[in-house]
Amino acid sequence: MNEWWEKPLDSLSAEEWEQLCDGCGLCCMHKFEDEDSGEILYTDVACRLFDGNTCRCRDYAKRSELVPDCIRIRHFTAEQFAWLPKTCAYRLRFEEQPLFDWHPLLSGHADSVHAAGISMQGRCVSESEVDEDDLPLHIIDPSDG
Ligand code: SF4
Ligand code: SF4
Repeated sequence: MNEWWEKPLDSLSAEEWEQLCDGCGLCCMHKFEDEDSGEILYTDVACRLFDGNTCRCRDYAKRSELVPDCIRIRHFTAEQFAWLPKTCAYRLRFEEQPLFDWHPLLSGHADSVHAAGISMQGRCVSESEVDEDDLPLHIIDPSDG
């Protein structure tokens, strides 16, 4: 029998939807879109609500109120899923791909995403510490953790 996370995204309950997030924190980083290639370039500059130690939002319940441009993946269009990192569980399932074995749902450990070098835990700076003009200097390869 299939696991619940193998069901289509739009059939997941609210609780399942939240559990599908691997906790990598990549979507909370500033990013650019390359005008020529359309490639999404990630930086190590985090939203001001992001906690680089826990790798979590400091106020997830009020995130939309506190950060109006915080993304809501559940409302994404097909095109918007491409903004997410290739490792993101939502993007993988949208593309009907399996989750990686380091995903906490498969490993049984919340820390496995950090141990796999996928997450932004301990390797990001807050946007409050970076001049906007310097953002391009912070572009990273998200898989180089
Ligand atoms: S990139 Fe995807 S899996 Fe990672 S924290 Fe964001 S929503 Fe969760
Ligand atoms: S408000 Fe929270 S969930 Fe939204 S981008 Fe910022 S840290 Fe991430």
